Amino acid sequence: MTENPPYRRNHHCRLCAAPTARQVLPLEPSPIADAYIPADRLHEEQPCFPMDLYQCDACGHVQLLDVVSADTLFRDYIYHTADSSGLVEHFRKYVEALADRFSPKPDRLAVDIGSNDGTVLRLWRDRGLRVCGIDPAENIAREATEQGLPTRCAYFDAALGRELRAELGPAAFVTANNVFAHADDLPGILDGVRELLDDDGVFVFEVSYLVDIIERKLFDTVYHEHLCYHSIGPLQKFFAAHAMEIFDIERIPTKGGSIRVFAQRAGGPQPVAPIVAELLTLEAGMELDAGKPFEPLVRELTANRESLRVELEKVRAAGGRVAGFGASATVTTLMAHFDLAPLLDYLVDDNPKRSGLYSPHFHVPVLSSRILHDRPPACVVILAWQYATPIIKKHSAFAQDGRFFLLPMPKMKRVT
Ligand SMILES: [Zn+2]
Repeated sequence: MTENPPYRRNHHCRLCAAPTARQVLPLEPSPIADAYIPADRLHEEQPCFPMDLYQCDACGHVQLLDVVSADTLFRDYIYHTADSSGLVEHFRKYVEALADRFSPKPDRLAVDIGSNDGTVLRLWRDRGLRVCGIDPAENIAREATEQGLPTRCAYFDAALGRELRAELGPAAFVTANNVFAHADDLPGILDGVRELLDDDGVFVFEVSYLVDIIERKLFDTVYHEHLCYHSIGPLQKFFAAHAMEIFDIERIPTKGGSIRVFAQRAGGPQPVAPIVAELLTLEAGMELDAGKPFEPLVRELTANRESLRVELEKVRAAGGRVAGFGASATVTTLMAHFDLAPLLDYLVDDNPKRSGLYSPHFHVPVLSSRILHDRPPACVVILAWQYATPIIKKHSAFAQDGRFFLLPMPKMKRVT
């Protein structure tokens, strides 16, 4: 029996199908970012896959062209939205804002693509709407359906959009969160959304915003699950090519900087808000389409990597132990790109579910953060640097008697 290849190379832009793209952010090959494993699986090899960012020459869309197969990527996917109380609260406010703004009548249809455990569906149902979820994870779709939140186990595309419209009628809302950054077949998804939407229907999705990723140097939010790095210029052309129209955008703080995009069928009733043109102007001013802002980022990453490695080698040469703080997907990208595994004795994390696991591919052990106080290392590199302020505050007692924190990003520095 031959297995499917673990990854393949796209030769066309995911948004406009143009055949040429140039590399804008070279990154070291990396393993599946969130595949932390227990000790009994340490014999598994966990390969690294290419992870460079490319920009389409025609539409400017920034994307990974190396696509790791869904089987490889989601084999261990056990994520449930309701596991994270922060996310549930985020979606409660999200549905409330949509309901306040568009005042849907009861009995209208709300569809959530990538509905996971049905958190968004439940919120719509509580407001009297009919709901339908779509999620490719069989166990998750079945559990949601059993709880009265009907969920199709499928990948959403144009055919499914038509089928659902024939069965359930047109949708007042179609929502998709994370899906638009993670799916390979975006044209199929957008065609399906257009098929399904009512004439006054609204499509809403949230994705990380490329402008924020670059300005805040969030290069470690690049990982294989996350195929698309969206900005408004390419998205607007993509929507127009599929008879859809973006009519509003909100910038939100999720994941270090995201956009919530509102769209309708071309010629729909909503006026186009000024922010659409404002963000196009912002992106043009940065020369984002030409990939300009990536140039200083590439240089800064190289400089930070070198200065961090010099510091860590000094600590180790003096016989000190080094811990890395954080055991998440972003940490995997950072460790791979900065080649940190040989310089770290172990990782620590405040999340007890991560303690006892080993990092993907490099198999660096994850310990409870208690060790920073019980048996402190000489130095802690804050790999989860976006959360440096709360981490340093919580563990301030560590940095005494010559012990110190190192920040790898946005600028490499020592904190005592
Ligand atoms: Zn393109």
